[in-house]
Amino acid sequence: MVNFDTSLLNSGSYINGCWLDDNADTFTVLNPANNKEIATLANASADDAKRAVDASQEALLSWRHVPAKERARLLRRWFDLVMENKEKLAAILTAEQGKPLAEALGEVVYGANYIEWFAEEAKRVYGDTIPGPSADKRIVVIKQGVGLVSAITPWNFPSSMITRKAAPAMAAGCTFIVKAAAETPLSAIALAELAHRAGIPKGVFNVVVSNRAKEIGYVLTGDPRIAKFSFTGSTPVGKILLEQCAHTVKKTTMELGGNAPFIVFADADLDAAVKGVMLSKFRNAGQTCVCSNRILVQKDIYEEFSKRLVSAVEALEVGEGTKEGIDIGPLIHSGAVSNVESLVEQAVSNGAKVLTGGKRNDLGENFYEPTVLSNVDAQMSVAVNEIFGPVAPLIEFETEQEAIDLANNTEFGLASYIYTRDIGRVWRVSESLEYGMVGINEGIISNEMAPFGGVKQSGMGREGSKYGLEDYLEIKYLCMGGLDS
Ligand code: ADP
Repeated sequence: MVNFDTSLLNSGSYINGCWLDDNADTFTVLNPANNKEIATLANASADDAKRAVDASQEALLSWRHVPAKERARLLRRWFDLVMENKEKLAAILTAEQGKPLAEALGEVVYGANYIEWFAEEAKRVYGDTIPGPSADKRIVVIKQGVGLVSAITPWNFPSSMITRKAAPAMAAGCTFIVKAAAETPLSAIALAELAHRAGIPKGVFNVVVSNRAKEIGYVLTGDPRIAKFSFTGSTPVGKILLEQCAHTVKKTTMELGGNAPFIVFADADLDAAVKGVMLSKFRNAGQTCVCSNRILVQKDIYEEFSKRLVSAVEALEVGEGTKEGIDIGPLIHSGAVSNVESLVEQAVSNGAKVLTGGKRNDLGENFYEPTVLSNVDAQMSVAVNEIFGPVAPLIEFETEQEAIDLANNTEFGLASYIYTRDIGRVWRVSESLEYGMVGINEGIISNEMAPFGGVKQSGMGREGSKYGLEDYLEIKYLCMGGLDS
């Protein structure tokens, strides 16, 4: 029994415009709120992934010549269908991922915005003309889609991590294959169904669903016909896949892990800062790569800020995402809960204090209480590792330089946040932070118009904005000679 509309779903992977319905090998999808089975799908093999590459390569021959205006029209149609079906898509997303329904709806719309944005951008792929070095020469630069693109996406944003890659790829004239996370393949299938209904030609957009991540990964990172690989996931897996891509020198976009600092200076608007932490830390139960991971608070306001934060955290409602008024759903699986549990236990045994939460919630195996820890030391594993759960560790600092040093003392460099009303400090700190993104008095920074991405071991490349499209384009230089009369 499932409590969502299944009319957008199908039996398995969507390859070359057809659905894989091989029942010999299947895998199941569970609802993380209760661990009940919600779907059984055909389990794609490496051969199926190769078929997707064949189809995508074939489709590329014509897709790259489809006028940008027509590609834009098809993408726009896909966007419209996603928006028309957003409630159904949100229900599917909550069922397989666990996030509260309102958040799931937010993700579907956020993901759709990328399709709309890149549909518009498809028509604005401009080149350049450059003065030539001599009278008989002209230099012209054109931009063309890179070719066949493959991608692997995670379970924390099952819908938007796909559209954020597929839309710019297709807008640029590339064909696309994605392997969705095995925990959350249903949103991917539903997106494929809508792409099909939108009339996107067969082979242009392919979805592979499977629990054989490694085998499929070898195909999607190793096939020489694939020009670019785009990954969102953990840093350790990203490193493996980057290495695999090296053999055929693929272009890559890597959106990897983070360890976001959230810095609250004494001059900040404290209520705004608490609101910022609530949004950046507790969204998706803390399971986003831009989640605040270390809350750095200046000494003078540490006590007051902790008090206000604890009262906001204690007001959060934990429960099944389908229920009205829920703020925090389950974590993705019990392994995720054990990981959070062990980070909190280690912190407490090293002197951290639990201000609220600090334990599993008795609603079920995958639920963990929203937690605030004080007296956290920068060396504790809860401050060094990506928590990926609803735990806010508070670290005290005294000076601006100390905050910057603490913030930068990590191998990650994805999102960072600062709260201050001093304009000079805004610039000094923003420029000193070794991060791809800085939220200034703002806890939600990701949208389709902005370049999302990290530095250091958080990855490379940008998604969204005009820069996001560049990642799917190749520059070609045409040197025109013999122009003298
Ligand atoms: P998370 O911790 O969010 O699950 P992962 O990096 O483990 O992050 O997974 C992100 C995506 O990478 C998922 O789709 C997963 O199936 C896939 N994946 C994990 N390991 C491999 C691998 N060795 N080869 C290819 N894909 C992988």
